[in-house]
Amino acid sequence: MTVANGHALDVHEVHKRFGNAEVLKGVSMQARQGDVIALIGSSGSGKSTFLRCVNLLEVPDSGRILVGGEEIHLTTGKRGATVPADWHQVARIRTRLGMVFQNFNLWTHMTVLENVIEAPVHVQKRDKQEAIQRAHELLQKVGIGDKAEQFPAQLSGGQQQRAAIARALAMEPSVLLFDEPTSALDPELVGEVLRVIRQLAEEGRTMVIVTHEMKFARDVADQVIFLHQGRIEEQGTPDQVLVEPTSARTRQFVLGEA
Ligand code: ADP
Ligand code: MG
Repeated sequence: MTVANGHALDVHEVHKRFGNAEVLKGVSMQARQGDVIALIGSSGSGKSTFLRCVNLLEVPDSGRILVGGEEIHLTTGKRGATVPADWHQVARIRTRLGMVFQNFNLWTHMTVLENVIEAPVHVQKRDKQEAIQRAHELLQKVGIGDKAEQFPAQLSGGQQQRAAIARALAMEPSVLLFDEPTSALDPELVGEVLRVIRQLAEEGRTMVIVTHEMKFARDVADQVIFLHQGRIEEQGTPDQVLVEPTSARTRQFVLGEA
């Protein structure tokens, strides 16, 4: 979906606190159609919380989120907490945000094919035969066309993650959000998953990717954001952030400088 002069994803000043811990202290990002944004930072810096706020798996305490130009309406609930004004809107916008998790999160009691058609058929109410045909195409695309009738436990981690990517793509999302998609994989399986994500980038998909794969980020990202303790410490092109970072903290994280 193209938005004239707009952003595929536009996040303003998101704050999120868990108890006394302020985990996001005003994080903003803008992705144009086709942008690939790599989000990097140490464990605990708020990367997952940020992605979870974007698709309202966590409700931000304040801030604004627009997907394809449409703002997610937030309001103040009975107990003073921020809540979505309209969960139907959240459900609808979520179908435009494909999410891929570190641990795949496939439904273990369903075959790969059933995993891929679940949301299109039951959430988006698409025709089942069309969804099945599309699922087979997507499984081919991620290189596991022969695994449709297998259960997740019968697949390698790399195959499971590629199934999870096919499942995300099946909703035809306008933005893909990846949370450390290769962190749970044995090293020899990382490449097959990165190749699929790279292919999606080349197709012009809009993506936000939390990753520790610096070489991959450098090759694929248009923009790199380094998050430190809930704030954007540095952002820019891959060369700016990953090769010649200016902030001492970024230099330490990226270049291992003391
Ligand atoms: P990252 O993904 O960068 O490792 P997270 O977003 O997972 O960081 O976590 C950031 C901080 O928020 C951590 O200190 C974590 O313990 C805390 N946190 C995350 N989710 C919750 C939660 N649901 N309840 C309480 N604290 C949380
Ligand atoms: Mg995380």
